[in-house]
Amino acid sequence: MGLQRSLGVSSMLDRHGTPEFWAAVFLVHGYALRDYSALYEEMQQVQEHRQAQRGGATREGGWEGSDSPEWQQLTQSMRRARAGICSFQFALASSDALFRKSPGHERRVLALLRSDTFKSYSAVFDAVARGRLSGTFAYDVSAILATMLSLLPECMGVYKAPCNSGDDCDLELYSAFVKAAADSHVLDHACRAALWLADFVGGEQAACTAGGAAAQEQEAHHEIGTATLRPVDLGQREKKMGSICDRLRSMRKDINKVLSTLLGPLLGQQQSLGALHPRPLAAPRTGTDPGLLALLPAVRGLLSGTGVQVWAAKQLLDVANVAQEEVLGGTELGSSVCKMFGLTAPDPYLGLPSTARMQPHLFTATADHPLKKPDTATTIELLRGAMSVSSSTWQVTISGPVGAAVAAPGALPTGSVTTAGGRPVGGGSASASGSAAAGGGGVAAAAAAPTYRLPETIPFSAAQVCSMVSTALQRVLMPGWSAARSDQGEIVQALLLLSRLAQELRARQAQRVLEGIWGMINGWLQSLPVDALTPARQVLQQLGALLLHECPGEGELAQAAARQGGHPEPNDCPLALHAAEGFLILVHDVSVEWLGQPLALHGALFGRLIADMVNALLRQSCVLPVLVVHQPSPSLLDLVVTLRAMCNALRRKGMVAEAAALQTVLLHLAEQLAAVWMRPLPEGMRSGSCSQGAGSGAAAGPGCLPGQPIPDDLAAAIDRTAAALLTKASREQVPKQRLRRMWLAAHGRPNKAAILPAPVSVVFIMAQLLSLLSGLRKQRLWEADVPKDSILALTRVYMAVALQALLASESAPARSGLLTASEARAESWRAMLLAEEGAAVAWAASALYAAVRRQWLEGQEAALDLLEVLVLLLPAEDLRSHVGYYKDESATWPPSGPALPLALGQGWLAQQGREKLAAVMNWRQTSRGGLVLSLAAPAHLSDMIAKPHITALPQLPCPADAAAAVAAVTGIWPCSAADCSRLQESGREPIATQLCSRCRAARYCCAECQKAHWRAGHKTQCARQGAIWAALNTAPAPLHP
Ligand SMILES: [Zn+2]
Ligand SMILES: [Zn+2]
Repeated sequence: MGLQRSLGVSSMLDRHGTPEFWAAVFLVHGYALRDYSALYEEMQQVQEHRQAQRGGATREGGWEGSDSPEWQQLTQSMRRARAGICSFQFALASSDALFRKSPGHERRVLALLRSDTFKSYSAVFDAVARGRLSGTFAYDVSAILATMLSLLPECMGVYKAPCNSGDDCDLELYSAFVKAAADSHVLDHACRAALWLADFVGGEQAACTAGGAAAQEQEAHHEIGTATLRPVDLGQREKKMGSICDRLRSMRKDINKVLSTLLGPLLGQQQSLGALHPRPLAAPRTGTDPGLLALLPAVRGLLSGTGVQVWAAKQLLDVANVAQEEVLGGTELGSSVCKMFGLTAPDPYLGLPSTARMQPHLFTATADHPLKKPDTATTIELLRGAMSVSSSTWQVTISGPVGAAVAAPGALPTGSVTTAGGRPVGGGSASASGSAAAGGGGVAAAAAAPTYRLPETIPFSAAQVCSMVSTALQRVLMPGWSAARSDQGEIVQALLLLSRLAQELRARQAQRVLEGIWGMINGWLQSLPVDALTPARQVLQQLGALLLHECPGEGELAQAAARQGGHPEPNDCPLALHAAEGFLILVHDVSVEWLGQPLALHGALFGRLIADMVNALLRQSCVLPVLVVHQPSPSLLDLVVTLRAMCNALRRKGMVAEAAALQTVLLHLAEQLAAVWMRPLPEGMRSGSCSQGAGSGAAAGPGCLPGQPIPDDLAAAIDRTAAALLTKASREQVPKQRLRRMWLAAHGRPNKAAILPAPVSVVFIMAQLLSLLSGLRKQRLWEADVPKDSILALTRVYMAVALQALLASESAPARSGLLTASEARAESWRAMLLAEEGAAVAWAASALYAAVRRQWLEGQEAALDLLEVLVLLLPAEDLRSHVGYYKDESATWPPSGPALPLALGQGWLAQQGREKLAAVMNWRQTSRGGLVLSLAAPAHLSDMIAKPHITALPQLPCPADAAAAVAAVTGIWPCSAADCSRLQESGREPIATQLCSRCRAARYCCAECQKAHWRAGHKTQCARQGAIWAALNTAPAPLHP
């Protein structure tokens, strides 16, 4: 009868489509729904009454129903009401008139939204969720729920289509929908109802599988729907259970559809979910419709409902459990995850009722195949779907302990699990300990009322969400699972959520999250499909932002440590450093893996991503100058050596652009390192001031502990230094706050467990980077496509090294004869400047010519500054082939080039105000120097140029000492050839095993490298190197300068 009539209705609806007509239609529909919920309540009461009469000893038969006339009558009425609702909805759904694109559909939908239909739906959902009905009713109710839920996304489809196609969103419909949904709480109640049904299914499942005596015992406790299990009933019951599962599945799909569609219009204009967070990382994209943005709080409110939140969590955990069983044969996963996050949870299900956990076959069961289990492909799909929905929901709603919507902020530091909306014991309000204990009780807990009286606020803390998402992510990232599909959206969303939340977690938890992330994404990045590279970039950037991030509470930890005067933690510096090992290994492994692959079609893309990764995780994060203080392992040095080799390897593989991109990033890294470690500290900052404070128990230096506000004048001083020493390109996408943190953390309390003093690492890394960067001078610097900032950056880096050389030679007055140790150290610095055919001088000359040719004053000044120091520092024969000097006041022509030597005229130098340089050039040209030269410039020249530069310079160990110390402690001794491209596999053994037989200082991985290096300039440096090493071998280097 229903079908015939509804077809009639549907064509009638098509014809009479005025808003008034539709409003009336929905009004009637609402009445039917309210009838149904009233009947439902009544039924509930009758059942409870009868139970009370029987003293609770026996229960109303669940699947059998009851034969009392009163009961029968109620059942009949309910079935009629249900039939009414279902057929009516069938009519709506099949009529095409309401929900498809047809003239006037907006008016019809508005009528629907204004007719309180959602409230009627909400009432039914609510009644069901609060009810405790038996098996037969669950079967009936599931039909109603599924039907009603199927209508929700249908409604939303109306605005979805225009919104997703472009920026042209039907704002009126969208906002009407959001308002109606918010007013009626329909989404939250729908989720509660679905949870109720899932709980019922879970309970049934437990009863079915327990069997025998266990079943008997359980039956005595179990509230919902298990009477005596007669074999006769079992078949029919399983069939019905199959149907319920089927409906639950469709409800799950519909809810997920609603959740993801709800964010659709906002995402369309905002582009990223992160921008919708209560405390967005970036300002909303310009051009976003203000009307849309105004709806954001309402949308967030909808998604923050406890029902929605628990639903999101439950799916995720359920499916992760299934995945776990699929792969590992049913090991309990929760406890290991809790351990990983330091949560002392007895309850592996994070406070959710454990009876509600779905068995694998319930995800695929149908009436005909009630025991069908999901195969691997289905499991992956399920898991990805659940992850996508929950990640997007949580990205918009969840925030950390500083946020408002946290259940139990006090619980976080100790790491206990707060209530996650588990069933309250005895109907009382949920308490953190009570709920967790009840959840852990398994079957015993099922004895409590099976109703969800969930707390009003978001039930999960950020830490719990992190652990849940990680749980799922771990499953998704299992080997072979992620590579199968190229669409990596869910993984990216989950990673973005994790890194977003980690910014709000307390330091130790955030650290665990980070450690987990490095471990998890290693394999993912290594096997990333090509079309997922762009989203991966986004993830890397956000992870990079996390590295020097200051967590809430981090300051208290550090201050407590300082008060106690000890080191309860290996160090109390930023988050990154706790997770440094995993992070360094990640960058290293991923790079080596990509590069090891044969040059495939997309080789260049991977090369590009290596550059991106190093850029996001090392440069933008500003973490390198801090890692040298705190890194507890050789991984960092290892990584730098690998990056140098990688850049060469990229070039050798023909990926020139990618190699250049990586080289630029490494250049900016060298710039950071030089600025923070080789130049005077910003005004008002003292190196290691924190350690003094901690040792004496006195107040620590200003702003040097995390969590302490940086005094304004110190912040300004650091900002000034950064602006003066770092080029604009190297400060790109780096917030000022992070730069301040870089300086302060680098010169904060050193990590006592570090195997090498920071200055040693700094010099070693600088030598590696410079050896690679010296190749930059081969570019045509005078052409516009070489960025000015790149030229300026390398000039400044060379300047920093030159000043160190100057400082070292100040303390080593020159004389003839064999080198003393201090002379050898000064020589070692000089050798670093002169490696690769006089790299620094050649660079200064080329940069000067380029600046003059490009009429770029800043570059010219920087190059002249560098030249001034180099000329004072280096012997005449090293200068001669790169710079010439004409002592003639009329020589006012600018330096010409590009071929070296660059000719500098006295007259031109005077025009530029560089009389000092002219004087030094003049002296240098007339003085003679042997190999170990008489360097001593006339006192007036030295005082004039050197003194102002080297006051307040920090003193670093010389390159030879640093290399020896690194080799002694870590075994890393990189190949001396600048363009060596051999990558270290394990990273623990020295890659260079062959010594130059003359100087016994240069080392090579192979004969080829040795030949190349000899040609590239070692033949002029070999004797110098030999003298240095001979001198230093007799005088062991002090490790702590
Ligand atoms: Zn080599
Ligand atoms: Zn040699």
